[in-house]
Amino acid sequence: MNTNENVAKLYSDYVLSTYGREGIAFYKGEGSYLIDMDGNRYLDMYPGWGTGCLGHSHPYLADQLCDQLHTLIHVPNNFYNPLQAELAKRLADYGFGGYTFFCNSGAEANEAAIKLARRFGNQTGGRFEIITFYKSFHGRTLAAITATGQPKYQQGFEPLPAGFKYAEFGNFESVMSLVTDKTCAIMLELIQGEGGLNIAQDNFYRQIESLCREKNILLIADEVQTGIGRTGNIYGFQTFGVSPDVVTLAKALGGGVPIGAMMAKPALKDMLPPGMHASTFGGNSFACRAALAVFDVIEKENLLNNVKELSEYAFARFNDIARETGLITAIRGKGLMFGVDITVASADVKAACREKFVLINNVGEKTIRFLPALNITGDDLKKGIDVFEQALLREGKK
Ligand SMILES: *Cc1c(COP(=O)(O)O)cnc(C)c1O
Repeated sequence: MNTNENVAKLYSDYVLSTYGREGIAFYKGEGSYLIDMDGNRYLDMYPGWGTGCLGHSHPYLADQLCDQLHTLIHVPNNFYNPLQAELAKRLADYGFGGYTFFCNSGAEANEAAIKLARRFGNQTGGRFEIITFYKSFHGRTLAAITATGQPKYQQGFEPLPAGFKYAEFGNFESVMSLVTDKTCAIMLELIQGEGGLNIAQDNFYRQIESLCREKNILLIADEVQTGIGRTGNIYGFQTFGVSPDVVTLAKALGGGVPIGAMMAKPALKDMLPPGMHASTFGGNSFACRAALAVFDVIEKENLLNNVKELSEYAFARFNDIARETGLITAIRGKGLMFGVDITVASADVKAACREKFVLINNVGEKTIRFLPALNITGDDLKKGIDVFEQALLREGKK
């Protein structure tokens, strides 16, 4: 079991092939670095697709979790769990000011939000339609792929649940044209992550918010990727200056430990009374301890500041590279979440970076996404972008 190749063999013999895998087996992480079975050390520019907000194996997170393992791992939700209570308070106090339901993943958090929206619609005039957006990504359960406005995730799983309509992200008219007296919610990512790192004009978010207020439609922000410091604030809605009725979280919330959350404003407090929704693992002691530790580190290490400073640095570097190489056509981003459109195949640039032991992520054929740890050092960020630049130049010459 001690080489990448041996692990690959076990996968081909025993693991369902639901993923395209890159032939590397990682067994250890240290900050922004991952070490594979052959002893190679990689700089990780998107730890855990954004879950690794503190990088890998942060010592404080590890210590807190070890302590929790020796104290209590799981307590079912028919009992109180002090860590869950503390975490819910913290989520509210960071500026949402609502109530939280805990689950284990982004798709589940969105599933909870969709169920809550259906309940809300049922109680307010038999409404059930939810407007989502093309190029969105909301997860892989049946309702979440239906909410996801990308046919490639839906094909082959029909029939899909009814009641979803798709608008164009950033185009308010297209949203307006889909609103009917059956619309109960609008669900969006503030920044479309998987769909290409798309950001709308500021007024788009405000127009959506006003529309929701005017028509008593729920505004659901899927912050599974934008939440927990990624954009420079704890919540992305703070960066965009909107105030959603429902927010979903997962990815970075547990720093790599599975935990998801759906937060709802006080007016929705009784929308899911006892028995209407549940999750066996949701918000267990171990997962909540992880999330509390993540917030401790974000505060103690002043990570929101790190995000803001490094964000400016990265923007400046990408702009320089664009000017010097002519191989970048657009740069989008907030905080430490960047999409860089390039003129060469993103898969080739990604592969060229991997050869130089830097892991970067491509979304779409011509877009590279950067989601480094919130605590990445300036040196490591520089190194990651330098390697990207060299890879881009090399591929651009081919
Ligand atoms: C990753 C992601 C999801 C799905 O999260 P899972 O934990 O994989 O279910 C949902 N929404 C957004 C915006 C995401 O980035």
